[in-house]
Amino acid sequence: MSTPRTVLVTGGNRGIGFAIAEEFVRQGHRVAVTARSGAGPEGTLTVQADVTDSASVDAAFTAIEAELGPVEVVVANAGITRDTLLMRMSDEDFETVIDTNLTGSFRVVKRASKGMLKARFGRIVLISSVVGLYGGPGQANYSASKAGLVGFARSITRELGARGITANVVAPGFIETDMTAELPEATQADYKKSIPAGRFATPTEVAKVVAWIASDDAGYISGAVIPVDGGLGMGH
Ligand code: NDP
Repeated sequence: MSTPRTVLVTGGNRGIGFAIAEEFVRQGHRVAVTARSGAGPEGTLTVQADVTDSASVDAAFTAIEAELGPVEVVVANAGITRDTLLMRMSDEDFETVIDTNLTGSFRVVKRASKGMLKARFGRIVLISSVVGLYGGPGQANYSASKAGLVGFARSITRELGARGITANVVAPGFIETDMTAELPEATQADYKKSIPAGRFATPTEVAKVVAWIASDDAGYISGAVIPVDGGLGMGH
């Protein structure tokens, strides 16, 4: 078993974030989630935070630190899509997705790094997407935001790697959540045909990998992109 840690999962009130928080609780860690609405799974501390607002992120960390101690594992999971074809994509469609998915992760990780540097220990896990490296029609904004997380994790690895801190990217393929439920049936069927596993995954299948990359056993893995995509991205 891994050393019990203080873990923060952003967007832990539903979908993949909820499953990740559940898995950390199951493994005996102290778990906080951020949510804009609703709450995390049983056994977690829920704090309100909007990742597009640095003051809100800072306040969430202060509340978590007071209850559970400094955050040792941070999972930047909160994310949105605003899909539309490039010609129709407004500046706002592009900027909102980057601000939430990429800059939001930066805000959270920057705040978490303070305590990690002091402790000379940290696990940073960024939830990207197969689309970050594979691309997706109608997803120029989303795919750019998710690809950006790879450079972000690798720069953190170079900056903080000698301080006991790892930064990795987990890149899910198609997972059964509200986000994919929004896709038209025909699109879902097309995707299933191109996924070697022939199916979408459950959020728990992503959660298990996230918990492992944050565990004591994974201390020598950093700057990696770990696909959980049924073979769709062929390792990328
Ligand atoms: P959901 O749409 O089910 O949940 C999104 C989560 O992000 C919610 O908890 C939501 O909070 C939170 N969130 C969104 N915007 C903000 C914000 N500004 N501040 C704080 N929290 C916010 O998504 P999934 O569970 O499907 O996705 C989770 C992550 O996994 C995302 O980063 C997504 O891009 C990624 N992913 C998902 C895949 C999939 O197939 N589902 C595939 C690959 C990657 P609230 O409910 O309060 O709005």
